[in-house]
Amino acid sequence: MAIQFEDSFQRKFYYLRLSVTDVCNFKCTYCLPDGYRPEGHKKPSFLTLDEIERVTGAFAQCGTSKVRITGGEPSLRRDFTDIIRTVADQPGITKVATTTNGYRMAKHVHEWREAGLTNINVSVDSLDPKMFYQITGENMFNQVMEGIDAAFDAGFEQVKINTVLLKDLNSQELPKFLDWIKTRPIQLRFIELMQTGEMDNLFKKHHVSGVSIRNHLIANGWILKLKSSNDGPAQVFCHPDYMGEIGLIMPYEKDFCQSCNRLRVSANGKLHLCLFGDHGIDLRDLLEQDEQRDALIARIQGGLQQKSVSHFLQDGNTGMTPHLASIGG
Ligand code: SAM
Ligand code: SF4
Repeated sequence: MAIQFEDSFQRKFYYLRLSVTDVCNFKCTYCLPDGYRPEGHKKPSFLTLDEIERVTGAFAQCGTSKVRITGGEPSLRRDFTDIIRTVADQPGITKVATTTNGYRMAKHVHEWREAGLTNINVSVDSLDPKMFYQITGENMFNQVMEGIDAAFDAGFEQVKINTVLLKDLNSQELPKFLDWIKTRPIQLRFIELMQTGEMDNLFKKHHVSGVSIRNHLIANGWILKLKSSNDGPAQVFCHPDYMGEIGLIMPYEKDFCQSCNRLRVSANGKLHLCLFGDHGIDLRDLLEQDEQRDALIARIQGGLQQKSVSHFLQDGNTGMTPHLASIGG
């Protein structure tokens, strides 16, 4: 290994979240309520397969062992299976994950698995088809459920589900979600709504803290699992009567950033040190040839020294991020 990516707070980075497209076919109220609209008039040019190979190769050389392919909706890329294979082929990468809205899973998850996908997160904001439509703008609840079944069929031992907690929308569904995971090896992760640059009233109207869920779980015999050093920021609870687990992602809690072990590269090749609040460091000019790898590593390591200790979300900072589809949530 050349060097290990590390910031000035001695946080080491094993985990890269790589966005491969900004485009999405859903219109989630908290992300792209009006659907995807390209910036400006030019057709966006997202990282090519060769560029993806070079950037993940450099990260792998410097200690990254896990890559999450995200977006926008990553499975909209026609070469999505090739992207999975390319990332999985990098020496040192042991986990290749994706986060998807699930609409293509039923058809393609077997081929993704064969290409080297090891972990999958599917976003499901409601178990009620009507509410699912209200939140995502798409009538695809059944298709997504079929996709989750197909993932188990393809050999995934666990599927993670992301559910954004939304007051007065899905916040009454906890019993339903618990029932769902009783007999399924699902880790259901409730994510507190995060305020982004383009969000106005929605945050005020629908943000709800995960604390009441945590209290409910603890009062009902759920046990907080110990974390290992490589785990992300989720607090994960298990229960002897349930096959599934519940995760809570509460970015507004104190010390959320202490366990930060991730860096982000956007679909247009910019390194982002945090989901919130930076312009991004352009890497694209160093992704043209294999011979540029040393310069690429030096730029990433240099940029890391600017990573700040916290996102300061709790102080109302929403940073530069208009919505999470633009940077790979
Ligand atoms: N399109 C894919 C999907 O929805 O799973 C991947 C990209 S999406 C931006 C990644 C995750 O970010 C999803 O689980 C989504 O629910 C979550 N997300 C998006 N905007 C959010 C926000 N403002 N607050 C909290 N989570 C958000
Ligand atoms: Fe698309 Fe994912 Fe954003 Fe929903 S959360 S609009 S599926 S990118």
